[in-house]
Amino acid sequence: MSALPAPGCDDLAASLAAVVGAEHVLADPELRASYEVDCVGVRRGDALLVVRPADTAEVAAVVVACREVGVALVPQGGNTGLTGGGVPRGGEVLLSLRRLDRIEPVDVDAGQVTVGAGATLAAVQAAALASDMELAVDLGARDQATIGGMVGTNAGGTRVLRHGSMRAQVVGLEAVLADGGVVERLSGLLKDNVGYDLPGLLCGSEGTLAVVTRVRLRLVPRLSHRVTALVGVGNTSDALAVLRRLRPLASLDAAEIMWDDALALVQERVGLRSPLAGRHAVYLLVECTAMHDPTDELAQVLGACSAVEDVAVGQDAAGRAAIWALRHGHAESVVIGGNTVKLDVTLPLGRLAAFESRLRAVCARREPDAVPLLFGHVGDGNLHVNVLGVPPERTGELTDEVLTLFAAHGGSISAEHGIGVAKRAYVRLGRSAADVEAMRAIKHGLDPRGMLNPGVIFAENHSSKLR
Ligand SMILES: Cc1cc2nc3c(=O)[nH]c(=O)nc-3n(C[C@H](O)[C@H](O)[C@H](O)COP(=O)(O)OP(=O)(O)OC[C@H]3O[C@@H](n4cnc5c(N)ncnc54)[C@H](O)[C@@H]3O)c2cc1C
Repeated sequence: MSALPAPGCDDLAASLAAVVGAEHVLADPELRASYEVDCVGVRRGDALLVVRPADTAEVAAVVVACREVGVALVPQGGNTGLTGGGVPRGGEVLLSLRRLDRIEPVDVDAGQVTVGAGATLAAVQAAALASDMELAVDLGARDQATIGGMVGTNAGGTRVLRHGSMRAQVVGLEAVLADGGVVERLSGLLKDNVGYDLPGLLCGSEGTLAVVTRVRLRLVPRLSHRVTALVGVGNTSDALAVLRRLRPLASLDAAEIMWDDALALVQERVGLRSPLAGRHAVYLLVECTAMHDPTDELAQVLGACSAVEDVAVGQDAAGRAAIWALRHGHAESVVIGGNTVKLDVTLPLGRLAAFESRLRAVCARREPDAVPLLFGHVGDGNLHVNVLGVPPERTGELTDEVLTLFAAHGGSISAEHGIGVAKRAYVRLGRSAADVEAMRAIKHGLDPRGMLNPGVIFAENHSSKLR
C-alpha cells in the first residue's frame, strides 16, 4: 500500500476538509486501511483519500470538489458487498456514506419510513419494529450493510419469495448526480407517474449512476407468529416437490436449500448440531409468519407430502435461531475455507436438479480435490455456488466454465450481489449486445466523464482520472 499522497492530493484534501471537517478526510494509510479491503479480504485497492460527509449537501459538495480536480469517486456503505464494487481500484476518493445514518420517524399512516443511506439494515429493522412494522428484507450482514449499499446492489436475502428484493421496498429516494445536482423523490406517493422511474433505475446501479443519500422505504405490518422448520428430503427434485406444495401457503416467508455434504462441513467448521436425528441428502429450511400461529398449516402440508423424510420445528426464538444458524453458518464456512470460487446465480427452478449434477461433474473433472459447497434462497431460484480449495491460478478457468453453464441453463450470472468488478468480464453472458449498449448510454448520459465508480459493471471505464 502506498503511503505517498498523489500529486494534487493536498489541495483536494484541503478543499474536502473545508466541506466535511478535517477529521473526516483520511489520508493516513492506517486510517484508510479498513475502507480499502472488502469484508472477506479478497479485493483491495489504495484510495487517494477517504472522505466521510455527514449529509446530502456535503455529499454534493464533495462530488463537485472531486470533479473540479478530475478525481473519480467510489461510494461505500457498510463494505459487506461481495463483488468488489465498494472498494477502490486505485487512486479514487473513497466516499463513505456511513455518517448519513439518520432514521426519520416512521410514517404510520403510509407505512413508510425515510432513512439516511448510511443507516444499517439492523437499525432500520429495529425502528420499524418499534412502530409494530417490519422492513421486509433480511440478510446475514444486517448489522453492517447499509440501506444505500442495499439499494446499490438491489439486495435480496431470505424474504424475496414473499416480498421482493430491495427495489420492491423502495418507494422513493434522494441522490446526488455526477455533476453535484440533487434529485429528490421522497414524497412517498404510490401513484406518481411523471416520467422515468429514477429510483427503480438506481436500484442495482452499484454506485455507477448517482450517490444515494436518503431512501423512502415501504414497511409491512409486523406479523406476530413465526415458525421455522428444517425438512430432510432424499434429493434435489424432492426438495422442489416440497416447495411446490408449500407455495400456496400465504404465510410462507422463506425457503432455503442446503445439501448434506455442505451441511456436514458447516457443522464441523462452525461447531453446530442439526436438530434432525439422522442425515438426509438435501434440507429445506422453511419459515412461515402470520397474524395467527402458522404451525398447524405448515405441519399439515409437510405431513401430506410423501417426499418429506423428517422434520424438526423451531417454534420459540431459540429453536428458530438454531435452525437459521445452520444456514448462516454456510457463509462463515466459505470464508474459513479460503481459495474459493464464489458465485451467486439464479436458475429457473425446473432446471435446478439437472444443473446441480452437471455442476458437480464439472467440479469433479476439473478440481477433484476441491469441495463444492452449495446453498441458496431456493424460493426465488438463487443459488450460492462455492468451490473451496481451488488453487488461485485455476479459479478463473473454473469460473468461466461454471458461469457459461449457468447461462446455458437459462440462469442469470448475478442474482443478488451485483456485477461489481468480479463479474464485469461476464456481463455479455447475461445481456444481449443491444441491452449492454442501452445500459452504456444511460451511464454516459448521467455520468459522461466516468466520475462515479469507474471499473464497476463496465470494465473499460476503469480510470481514476476523468476523461
Ligand atoms: C455474511 C454476509 C451475508 C450476506 N447475505 C446477503 C444476502 O442474503 N443477500 C444479498 O443480497 N446480499 C448479501 N450479502 C452481501 C451484502 O451484504 C449486500 O450486497 C449489501 O447490499 C451491501 O451493502 P453495503 O452497505 O455493505 O454496501 P457496500 O459493500 O459498501 O457497497 C456495495 C455496492 O453499493 C454501492 N454503494 C454503497 N453505498 C451507496 C450509496 N449510498 N449510493 C450509491 N451506491 C452505493 C457501492 O459502490 C458498491 O458498488 C451478504 C454479505 C455478507 C458478508
